[in-house]
Amino acid sequence: MQSFDVTIIGGGPGGSTLGALLAQQGRRVCIIERDTFPRFRIGESLLPFSIDIFAKTGVLPKIHDAGFMVKHGARFVIDESLEEECFWFKNGLDKDHPYAFQVQRAAFDELLLDHARELGVTVHQPLQADELRVSDDAAVVTTPAGEISAKIVCDVSGRWTFLSTRQRQRKIHPSHRKVTAFGHFKNVVRCEQDPGNIIIARFGDSRMGWFWLIPFTDGTTSVGVVADAGYFAESGLSAGEFFERSISASRSIAPRMRNAELCGAIRAESDFSYTSDRHAGDRWIKVGDAGAFIDPVFSSGVFLSTKAAELAAEAISRAFDANDFSAAMFADYEARIRHGTKVFWAFIDAFYNRDFLKQMVTSRRRPLLQSSITSLLAGDIYNENNNLISFLTGKGGAFADSETQALLG
Ligand SMILES: Cc1cc2nc3c(=O)[nH]c(=O)nc-3n(C[C@H](O)[C@H](O)[C@H](O)COP(=O)(O)OP(=O)(O)OC[C@H]3O[C@@H](n4cnc5c(N)ncnc54)[C@H](O)[C@@H]3O)c2cc1C
Repeated sequence: MQSFDVTIIGGGPGGSTLGALLAQQGRRVCIIERDTFPRFRIGESLLPFSIDIFAKTGVLPKIHDAGFMVKHGARFVIDESLEEECFWFKNGLDKDHPYAFQVQRAAFDELLLDHARELGVTVHQPLQADELRVSDDAAVVTTPAGEISAKIVCDVSGRWTFLSTRQRQRKIHPSHRKVTAFGHFKNVVRCEQDPGNIIIARFGDSRMGWFWLIPFTDGTTSVGVVADAGYFAESGLSAGEFFERSISASRSIAPRMRNAELCGAIRAESDFSYTSDRHAGDRWIKVGDAGAFIDPVFSSGVFLSTKAAELAAEAISRAFDANDFSAAMFADYEARIRHGTKVFWAFIDAFYNRDFLKQMVTSRRRPLLQSSITSLLAGDIYNENNNLISFLTGKGGAFADSETQALLG
């Protein structure tokens, strides 16, 4: 049996970041990743607040050198009225996080995992984690190549939710069952204000949904549509047909796709919003999508996963110092994760269920509201000076005026 301080299941951005941070602490770390990299993965638009975390692990210069598209902002459009607004990260409440990247995940995830390897993490790849056995003094992962023992196991297995599935804890949000159809295209017309920006366009009634356009430096653009699963099922269309029909029906996206050429195939995913009751227990911890994932409209996934990795690394360090890996040591971690999910969930809920988007695209005349929204879009979710966070999560705040309340419900 192999023995480490920490075993990490999953070598996506969360797992690689956690591995790198723990290796920097001097821990003996093993990552088990079942896929051979490079491999396709969705989740291509990053947020500025993950830049600090990449700087901390030392991978940031490599991300710059790899030549990924730099993203300075996010443009939101109401498809029917063509009202729109570009949110520039430099205008957020915090002025020190002006940019992020748009990344093809095949290359990006490989770069992050290679960096963890260089810092001394042992990577078993391809290798699948099959089961976890926890005893008083160890957490043992079973794999086809034998058992791997550690003081603690981190589940960073993404939407495969290794632990939540075994604990029967994967709770799909009942009123938020979505499907997405997406692909990479050449010749897409990009954001006029800055070709590196993401475009998000909301269209149709609440069952329809929204589009994303994410530009890359190789000239291709990721384009996807997200809609209610029931609406998609009733259409009787294939993912490709649904994608085509949605694009043709859109006022804002159809002109951008007029000369678009699909590279590869249209792909589909469904039921990607879920949570779990517990994010940590005795000798185990869930990080990133393995614990919860919420709708991707604000591109929060990689940020939340790498932020969770940072918080988990701190909690694990305290557990090693105390030689105590019980659930109580991770209570603070659990609370911080719940806060992050709650903030984005409230923001997403406002986007879907209320006329918040109208507030967003007209926020230029309310500069404080606009910079507060920009901060959230950048991932600045632990900023206690952002009253929009207090407002959205039900604690009141400076935006609790009658106009905003009426619009936000
Ligand atoms: C439609 C859609 C659009 C999205 N758009 C964005 C976006 O624009 N920006 C953004 O930030 N996020 C986006 N996301 C979310 C993003 O994909 C995830 O949040 C992000 O990949 C989470 O990283 P992770 O490291 O937690 O998990 P993952 O990236 O899923 O990595 C988990 C890894 O674990 C491995 N694994 C799983 N099970 C096992 C096992 N048993 N043994 C060994 N290895 C295992 C997998 O092979 C995988 O490599 C989107 C998601 C969807 C569904």
